[in-house]
Amino acid sequence: MSFDQLGEELEARKQQSLYRQRRILQSPQAPEVQVDGKNYLAFCSNDYLGLANHPQVISALQKGAEKYGVGGGASHLVNGHSQAHHALEEELAEFTGRPKALLFSTGYMANIGAVNALIDKRDAVFQDRVNHASLLDAGLLSGARFQRYLHNDAKNLETRLQRSEARRKLVVADGVFSMDGDLVDLPAISDAAQRHNAWVMIDDAHGFGCIGKGGRGVVDHFDMTPDQVQVLVGTLGKAFGTSGAFVAGSEELIETLVQHARTYIYTTSMPPAVAEATRASLRLLQQEEWRREKLNHLIQRFRAGCEQLGLTLIDSPTPIQPIMVGESEKAMQMSAALEQQGIFIGAIRPPTVPQGEARLRVTLSASHTEEQLDRLLDALEKAQQECGL
Ligand code: PMP
Repeated sequence: MSFDQLGEELEARKQQSLYRQRRILQSPQAPEVQVDGKNYLAFCSNDYLGLANHPQVISALQKGAEKYGVGGGASHLVNGHSQAHHALEEELAEFTGRPKALLFSTGYMANIGAVNALIDKRDAVFQDRVNHASLLDAGLLSGARFQRYLHNDAKNLETRLQRSEARRKLVVADGVFSMDGDLVDLPAISDAAQRHNAWVMIDDAHGFGCIGKGGRGVVDHFDMTPDQVQVLVGTLGKAFGTSGAFVAGSEELIETLVQHARTYIYTTSMPPAVAEATRASLRLLQQEEWRREKLNHLIQRFRAGCEQLGLTLIDSPTPIQPIMVGESEKAMQMSAALEQQGIFIGAIRPPTVPQGEARLRVTLSASHTEEQLDRLLDALEKAQQECGL
């Protein structure tokens, strides 16, 4: 059988402006990047605090490699669990105010592993309809009855919880929605869950480092306690500037994951040097409050500038500031018009976001300057005129 049919399907994606294309980055993560041989000012990285390229984080990685070598060598349960991993887990447990934390090699794997260790076909999982793909996939893989409630709508969630007679009920949501930038309505969602004896799992991939006291994320922001959000996930590839993820929670939760989470058990541990680098970034993330202050200042300035231009934003208090465009083709045109002016921002299209909700996903970082932000606003104004947005 030939691949002709696949070729036709790929061509159709191109016609619909849905084709995804990789670009080659030839510089470190920073506001000024080199992509495919050209220099750009980038507003699409998740390196929200500017730690991915921080000298102390790089130095910790180098020292870690000298001490432990490069590869993790084996899974955590064989002999891949190093002192570096263990120390980072203890520091993450303290950071999140929970008895234990467990490292995973990626956020995708943490979500798949945690959900599938907790529920199966006797159970039900309730997901915000715009949850990250890894949460949705985790729920589908579990075989539990899968339900999506309206975005951030605790009433709609509660109606569904009320009707369910499943053995276990797990409510799952992003802490900061990855394509919208808004926060989960945690008080209302957790109240609804509590009334119906359901567990709450929050994936705060984009909240840690950016919001809450000392960057402690959305649970801290809403002053919630560990018994209101029993399963807390964080990823390390965003504000932490490194790679990997963790789940934090009770002794029983973490021990259950060690016993049953297949994406923990059957994979090589992250390189120990990455754990050492993350320990350095965790210290910086907590100590350097100025990074969050600067980020918040840039967010306010960006939002005010967009309002003046009449661009449509989402009500987001986070560094994720999507500009809503509508059709995929228009989003691609805008992205290209910005690229012509030396600005790099990805167009996000279906199926990552719902039909008709294509957008430019602008992300801000504490490493951007005010001047760079003003360059972005000028370029947006020009692109808007060119594309008739
Ligand atoms: N959860 C959310 C909300 C995310 O946005 C992402 C990554 N974009 C992930 C999980 C996956 O994390 P990782 O990149 O570490 O696999």
